[in-house]
Amino acid sequence: MHYRRLGTSGLQLSALSFGAWATFGRQVGRGQARELVAAAWDHGINFFDNAEGYANGEAERVMGDVIADLRLPRDGYCVSSKVFFGAAADPRPTQKGLSRKHVRDACDAALQRLRVEHLDLYFCHRPDPDTPVAETVWAMDALIRQGKVLYWGTSEWPAAAIREAAQVARTHHLHGPTMEQPEYNLLRRERVELEYAPLYAELGLGTTTWSPLASGLLTGKYAGGVPADSRLAQPELAWLQREVLGDAARMARAGRFVALAAELGVAPAPLAIAWCLRNPHVSTVLLGASRVEQLVENLQALDLVARPDAGFWARVDALVD
Ligand code: NDP
Repeated sequence: MHYRRLGTSGLQLSALSFGAWATFGRQVGRGQARELVAAAWDHGINFFDNAEGYANGEAERVMGDVIADLRLPRDGYCVSSKVFFGAAADPRPTQKGLSRKHVRDACDAALQRLRVEHLDLYFCHRPDPDTPVAETVWAMDALIRQGKVLYWGTSEWPAAAIREAAQVARTHHLHGPTMEQPEYNLLRRERVELEYAPLYAELGLGTTTWSPLASGLLTGKYAGGVPADSRLAQPELAWLQREVLGDAARMARAGRFVALAAELGVAPAPLAIAWCLRNPHVSTVLLGASRVEQLVENLQALDLVARPDAGFWARVDALVD
């Protein structure tokens, strides 16, 4: 494993990290969740990502129990949560969003579920059109001053809103956003590479990027239909199936990528992940896995990224440019 700084902060995260979305509390049982976290930890992963909304809080409960059960040293790993969608099945207005009230209540609930005294990273999961940005910045700053959060950031915020948050923080001497959590993969690059481009130098912004495999599409596993044991086969994720498989042009690009990986003699999953890692503005690539074998295969990305063969990467870049 190698470690990268989260933007210009002093926090060093493993270049590959591990998230619980769609799997913990839903697709995989506790035993499997324990094996996945243990394997991640054994391979040097030090950042475990979660959110209040993942399986209505159950993902955090499972992760908290598993980490406690494995007795991972608290100073050796980082854990995150995200606030916005709410953990209740049908959240009332004060149980979701980025108001001062919900930000604080959600943090306290996540601390309990994850069985920790502070969150290392805390994200605003989406922008909230019903809350002034300044209110959220003050709420996050308060959590940091109370010792409940170490670094706060955003997820899928427009660059202008991140800038506004940073400006509020600067004006009032508050803790500003340290990181953003955007989607980033061979099929979705614009936000990380173009929209946020000025923010890396301007704010020292770090990124914890998600869905490096576009929910598995870049492994080629959906080419012959949806496997019964994959996330897209879950009825409650029918919306995701439409998103991932609904665009013929996108499917064709994914197919061309998988064919190129075969030509280059490498597995598509680690190749797609290594491609993300080659961007120096990526602090850590969040992996998802429903089985330990997937995680172990994906970790091969660390070897691939160091491949000095410029011609090899030029072929991959040519495919997605
Ligand atoms: P990926 O795009 O990498 O998808 C992971 C899924 O792909 C796995 O669960 C598995 O699904 C399949 N897969 C993974 N590796 C392999 C392999 N080697 N061979 C075959 N299939 C494989 O990442 P995620 O979408 O899971 O995102 C990663 C993390 O990012 C999440 O856990 C979460 O923490 C974060 N995230 C954040 C979001 C945000 O809004 N901030 C949104 C989404 C994710 P299966 O076995 O079911 O087919």
